[in-house]
Amino acid sequence: MDKDLAEQVAEIAQRVVASGAISANGHGNVSVRVPGAQEMYFTAGPSLRGHPASAVVRVGLDGTLLEGDLPPIQGAVVAMHTAMYQDHPDVGCVLHTHSPYATAYAVAQRHIGCWVEAMAMFGLADGVPVAGYGPRGSAEAVANIRGAVIPGVPAVLLANHGVLIFHRTPDLAILVGGVVEEAAQAGLNSQGLGGPVEIPPDLRVAALQRAMAFDSQGTAHA
Ligand SMILES: [Zn+2]
Repeated sequence: MDKDLAEQVAEIAQRVVASGAISANGHGNVSVRVPGAQEMYFTAGPSLRGHPASAVVRVGLDGTLLEGDLPPIQGAVVAMHTAMYQDHPDVGCVLHTHSPYATAYAVAQRHIGCWVEAMAMFGLADGVPVAGYGPRGSAEAVANIRGAVIPGVPAVLLANHGVLIFHRTPDLAILVGGVVEEAAQAGLNSQGLGGPVEIPPDLRVAALQRAMAFDSQGTAHA
């Protein structure tokens, strides 16, 4: 076990908790791909809140436990993490949470549309799709997730369960987890006002281009 990598994973778990895009019980899991190996490091603890590095396990991308202790409830969701690494060679981090507002959409089996500008800026211009329900970690659930992924979109809602985020780096995954939760919250809060209005597709592209143009200029210094 690479202690540094295990500690990094525990630290990512704390950052997910600090982001606020997490349910009250802290349920969820974080994994990172081991560079240059068919392996991931995975949080095997019951909650991301206060998750110790000692409860991080090393798992092959074929699902084989290589090091550490993996309880059955966490073992059940290993396959949805490994599937994202297998399918997307650029993915370096996978997050799964039951962040409350996104989970409300998952429970309603309703996709989250591009009605918050940050969605357009961070790869979610096509919204967040819903993967149909299957018992967690089952072949059916994993096939539904794989089938629901829109190329280039780093998030999927898991029907009647929660949300799955997969991105190149932990920073981007945490950021997207927050954007998805923010959009879900705004979507629900706007229901009493007639419901969210999606940004027209051409303006989603414009929002991304403007964000990239600002980003390329870097931080302004007085
Ligand atoms: Zn879950």
